[in-house]
Amino acid sequence: MNLAELQAALAACRKCAEAGYFIGSRPISAVNPGATFMIVGQAPGRHEAEVTQRPFSGPAGRRLFRWLAQAGFDEAEFRATQAMAAITRCYPGPHPGGRGDRVPSRAEQALCATWLEAELALIRPRVLIPVGGLAIGRFLGNDRPMTALIGERFEREGRIIVPLPHPSGASQWFNMAENALRLERALALLGQLREQLARTLSSGEEI
Ligand code: SF4
Repeated sequence: MNLAELQAALAACRKCAEAGYFIGSRPISAVNPGATFMIVGQAPGRHEAEVTQRPFSGPAGRRLFRWLAQAGFDEAEFRATQAMAAITRCYPGPHPGGRGDRVPSRAEQALCATWLEAELALIRPRVLIPVGGLAIGRFLGNDRPMTALIGERFEREGRIIVPLPHPSGASQWFNMAENALRLERALALLGQLREQLARTLSSGEEI
């Protein structure tokens, strides 16, 4: 299956609804062939589901792209050339307690995992940017607190991983001054990788 066929199959996916789980949108993600950076979030939010059908286009996405601008990324160029995925691709609906969006269940995560695995195998992005605890746990495990991972660079299965906090939940996180420094370090790492990849892709060198 090539990437276009995979995306067509993903767009038609109704596995969660067929298994009896609530989904509040069609699958939402945007993955370009040849992407070297891949953002992986938790799941689309209400704005993406009800207004734009584009990943990371609501308030949290705008905040994320303001962060990425500090690392030198242009949002329009990133959307046109890179990859934006999530642990689950359909809007999971509001949190039953009224606090933001519902976290997809383990069963929903398991149903959706094949899409991410297939995209990773087809695109082979060089740098993964997991955003928020669910995505960070998928790539780096859950044995260390998220805070201890932000600002660090990891290597797993030939990929570089630079985790970021989830922008929708980061306001309180920034109450601790050292966390702002952790984010600054993470964005500096991403800026270095962006520059290194831009320099070396044409020469075929590895970073
Ligand atoms: S969340 Fe994933 S597995 Fe579930 S219906 Fe949407 S695309 Fe399919």
